[in-house]
Amino acid sequence: MRISELLQQPRRSLSFEVFPPKSSTVFSSIQKATFAIAELKPSFISVTYGAGGGTSAYTLEMAREIQGRYSVPALAHLTCVSSSRETVAARIREIREAGIENIMALRGDLTPELEAKDRSQWCYHHAVELVREIRAAAPEACIGGACYPEVHPESANQREDIAHLKEKVEAGCDFLTTQMFFDNNLFYNFLYKIREAGILVPVLPGIMPITKATQVARAIRLSGSFMPQRFKSLVDCFGEDPEAMQQAGIAYATDQIIDLFANGIHHVHVYSMNNPAVAAKILDNLSRILEP
Ligand code: FAD
Repeated sequence: MRISELLQQPRRSLSFEVFPPKSSTVFSSIQKATFAIAELKPSFISVTYGAGGGTSAYTLEMAREIQGRYSVPALAHLTCVSSSRETVAARIREIREAGIENIMALRGDLTPELEAKDRSQWCYHHAVELVREIRAAAPEACIGGACYPEVHPESANQREDIAHLKEKVEAGCDFLTTQMFFDNNLFYNFLYKIREAGILVPVLPGIMPITKATQVARAIRLSGSFMPQRFKSLVDCFGEDPEAMQQAGIAYATDQIIDLFANGIHHVHVYSMNNPAVAAKILDNLSRILEP
């Protein structure tokens, strides 16, 4: 099912993100965790591409299994910045042949090796180029794009970031998913500004349940997200007790999701980090809210 159609349904729903294994040695444990998340029957599951050290070759395999075995729609991520045009064309073809209709079109992070190269040698500079290529090669595809309520770190300011986002949507994005945020007001403010700029596609807020104190520094490094004092106090108080930290982190994420639903958002994407226990607990916390 196309995610854009799913998002038109006026019911509250959650989707989850998983990342592929780094190597074949951990493939079966990651696959098991992914299947356990698929058994929870979220509205869809996104599978990252090379992000967090995962291997891009497994993205399609995992997406295909999620759809084939569990009938849960899969969103296959694809990045372009370190790829050749031939590789990208081959990946798009493989995704179509696997029957995956939903593709998340991303630029990918700039690695030091890539930055060391002359930019004129790069085949792709921005995700908008990938969106155009997917739209041309697979007109029927449902394309997602990333957006940043707290501004992408490479943008000089929010106005410039939103102008580029608009260009990406006009190139063919059917929906957007946000970078993680820990203060919902940042999301509401962003949504207001992009609507005002004429970006009208559905926007999925991305919520990351932080369940270990060690995840905090990494999450800030990767996303540049602002950590509210309320969240910092929680980590200070419970960070050294793993079970208490997991409980508090899930409660914080649940609270963010309830606030989003209460403010008229119907769909939330959860960065579930291949953790079925966390995904199940969040669903359990919301059981009545998701199925009134
Ligand atoms: P872009 O849309 O290209 O934006 C990057 C920067 O370039 C922004 O500052 C933007 O304003 C600017 N820009 C855009 N177009 C132009 C233009 N025409 N001219 C000048 N400047 C421009 N990474 C992975 O490696 N694998 C994944 O699976 C993955 N999944 C992600 C999922 C989500 C929901 C998010 C939010 C991020 C994900 N990332 C992933 C990380 C992502 O690759 C990085 O954040 C990357 O730095 C930017 O990707 P983008 O697609 O947003 O790029």
